[in-house]
Amino acid sequence: MNNRELFFRHVGQTSPFPLALDIAKAYGIYIEDKDGHTFVDFISGIAVSNIGHCHPKVVQAIAKQAATYMHTMVYGEYLQSPQIQLASILASLLPQPLESVYLVNSGAEAIDGALKLAKRYTGRTELISFQNAYHGSTHGPLSIMGSETFKNAFRPLLPDTRTIRFNQAEDLHQISEKTACVVVEPIQGEAGVVLPENGFHEKLQKRCKETGTLLIVDEIQTGCGRTGKMWAFEHFNIVPDILCLAKGLGGGMPIGAFIASKEIMSTLTYDPILGHITTFGGHPVCCAAALASLQIIRDENLAETATDKGLYFISKLKHPLFQGIRGKGLMLANPMENNQRNMAFIQAALAKGIIVDWFLFADNFLRICPPLTITYAELDWVAEQFNAIADSLD
Ligand code: PLP
Repeated sequence: MNNRELFFRHVGQTSPFPLALDIAKAYGIYIEDKDGHTFVDFISGIAVSNIGHCHPKVVQAIAKQAATYMHTMVYGEYLQSPQIQLASILASLLPQPLESVYLVNSGAEAIDGALKLAKRYTGRTELISFQNAYHGSTHGPLSIMGSETFKNAFRPLLPDTRTIRFNQAEDLHQISEKTACVVVEPIQGEAGVVLPENGFHEKLQKRCKETGTLLIVDEIQTGCGRTGKMWAFEHFNIVPDILCLAKGLGGGMPIGAFIASKEIMSTLTYDPILGHITTFGGHPVCCAAALASLQIIRDENLAETATDKGLYFISKLKHPLFQGIRGKGLMLANPMENNQRNMAFIQAALAKGIIVDWFLFADNFLRICPPLTITYAELDWVAEQFNAIADSLD
């Protein structure tokens, strides 16, 4: 059997129509398949490859750490320099009091840990999230997902959850003294890049403060420079009580984190001890990769340049199809007439060597999310192809 047949037979399938590119290698903004095609990864493996694929400094950090030590003990017992340095650089990039970093393996796990932490710290049980929010696929994050379609097949889920509407200030009164936390994406990703309006986040944080509710900000998709700031919450006048990271954090390696004040985080240490445990969380090789990646984003000002590159790319899209494009930095979405038109565009782009995609809760929106390291010349080329595809679909 060839690779393709083995893939469909033995690799658990999540969708009836996977892209099924047979990957040969990936570097910078490019992915090569085994048939000799080269693609521009214009979705960064879904907001992961912010610094491009196989960045030499990340590859070097991984090789060095792998040759020094890998797993030595479950999380939190030994002093491991890559973990300590990663936690320290994160604290240096965040406002006070966000200085205590708990390292995990994925976004879903970061959200799960954050939910537990909020319940434990507040002594409350109600969890509030937003319609069309995506926070991961394991039971905890699934319980707060903003889509009944995805949740219904897996009930019963966590009790005491409630979903309110994003950008609707009149729903905020539903946050009460019973609410442990509200989980929010600063810019909703899978909803199709929905930006907050009319000071929504500021109003949300105010209501949380009034009711003693913790504000969990999910920056798993928006973080690490993607939207033009290191963290998207910096666009707004808020500071999370708990911040969740993953995806772009690892420079291509699997890692997540939930970050809080020392006071909040310490509730996982006592009564019972070991309030959250992970064997592989904060794996030294992943931490070394994440550290190198954050240093690159910080030292090369990739967050700031993302704003300029995003605006530049939009300015090059001349066809009226792109009139409604929205987003921040290099997290963009373009509305299409319907899902069929979107799929036709995605297929045509693939044929020209550009990988784009749709969104989980907005299948009529085109996902545009290139590596932050993309050059202006590369953006020119993609924009030219996009204009030509739009012409051909007229
Ligand atoms: N939160 C957001 C906003 C996401 O976009 C995702 C993944 O797409 C997650 C959480 C879950 O992350 P993971 O797939 O690493 O579990």
